[in-house]
Amino acid sequence: MNSLLQSEALHDARPAGSGKAINRHHGLAEEAYEAIFGQLMALKIAPGSRITVDNLARELNVSQTPIREALGRLEGEGLVVKTHLIGYSAAPQIARRRFDELYDLRILLEPEAAQRAALVMDEQRLAMLQEVAGVMARRQGGDERFRYSAFARQDALFHDRILEIAGNALIRETLAHQHTHFHIFRLMFHSRVTEEALDEHEALLAALASGDGKAAKKAMREHIERSRDRLLPAFD
Ligand SMILES: [Zn+2]
Repeated sequence: MNSLLQSEALHDARPAGSGKAINRHHGLAEEAYEAIFGQLMALKIAPGSRITVDNLARELNVSQTPIREALGRLEGEGLVVKTHLIGYSAAPQIARRRFDELYDLRILLEPEAAQRAALVMDEQRLAMLQEVAGVMARRQGGDERFRYSAFARQDALFHDRILEIAGNALIRETLAHQHTHFHIFRLMFHSRVTEEALDEHEALLAALASGDGKAAKKAMREHIERSRDRLLPAFD
């Protein structure tokens, strides 16, 4: 599965350069990853632009090794492209056609999954979903860019958990493999994207909590359609 979706320590992640120095190599690579991920999501590193290991190492004040490790991980997530003899660059923005295809795929699979999830909802599963949704809502203050990239990750996690509860592992893997949320959130850096999504998640959670399959299906469909409409202006 997607290692990102399993990363729980989101709220512990700090922007590079802040806080105490972490001695362990893994910690440095993790911090480098978070910092570069944030820059990619908020378009501080523009889609398609070159990424220089040297520059990043200087900027984040770490050696090249954790930078390379972070870039390798981002390559696996489709956010970074490595070209022979040229090096790394940020993945190009997804094309309109790909965007439509991704949303078609989501609309085919996710409302149905939400319906199934509602039908098997119990206290424990609901608590898990509320926890993920709550982490998104609680993220106030701090760096807006960092908040935005954190929201993208949490949104991916929230949708993934619903698919997990729905119980079809292949559907879950198919959607996780697309890293849809990362590509979608990178289209536009705007607070409206997150505020409206939070309201829709509330409606979805209420339907899931009530065990009403049809209502959950409808809420998920509306959420995905509205998400698409919010991001469409990125192609104007
Ligand atoms: Zn969402």
